[in-house]
Amino acid sequence: MSTAYFLFFGRLNDFLTREQRQQPLSVDFRGRQSIKHLAESLGVPHPEIGQVQVNGQEGTLDTITQDGDHVDVRSIPNGYALEPRFVLDNHLGRLAAYLRMLGFDCLYQNDYEDAELAETVQREGRILLSRDRRLLMRKVVIHGYCPRSLDPIEQLSEIIQRFDLTKRIVPFHRCLRCNHPLEQVEKEDVFERLESLTRLYFDEFQICPACKQIYWKGSHYERMQRLIEQMMQNKNRN
Ligand SMILES: [Zn+2]
Repeated sequence: MSTAYFLFFGRLNDFLTREQRQQPLSVDFRGRQSIKHLAESLGVPHPEIGQVQVNGQEGTLDTITQDGDHVDVRSIPNGYALEPRFVLDNHLGRLAAYLRMLGFDCLYQNDYEDAELAETVQREGRILLSRDRRLLMRKVVIHGYCPRSLDPIEQLSEIIQRFDLTKRIVPFHRCLRCNHPLEQVEKEDVFERLESLTRLYFDEFQICPACKQIYWKGSHYERMQRLIEQMMQNKNRN
């Protein structure tokens, strides 16, 4: 039997129990075990992990752990180099709508099977958002994040910080229902479908070419504006 000592930094402590946080955790293991495997056995999904150091030297998730190793594991830095495209687990419907409202490409269904989610992640190279750690631990998941909060607004704030999305926010150009980019539409072309007060007070409309949902700057618009302003003022947390 071999033993290694893992120390997790920053927000990785969120995955540990209160007693485990901010201190070296000893892990007993047999045979050839990667750092990734042992970190995940302690509950920390690999997409959340950034820098790894073994006995003070640079390591990787694939480094094979040796008896007596001291392993420092840091969270992945905030930011994302590519155009962020997400796929969200079933229980994150509100978060999907909020992210779409800010203009982000989000696939979401309330009846995804785990295998289907994993397949989409792999096929489209999307970032997986899930509170299911076992799902995040799947090998095919390269980029992923586990929202810590159960509150959709707080989850949105976490995602914006983690992937550094503030500068990429382009509100109101994506369908909240189906993710498709919206198009401008003439009032006369949708007039038949509008309620009488909407006909009276609004002149600018957008339509989703996929599901035909109509959007205008009604009462919900100001609430969303306030939320967007709030999101754009977020502070960073590592
Ligand atoms: Zn739509």
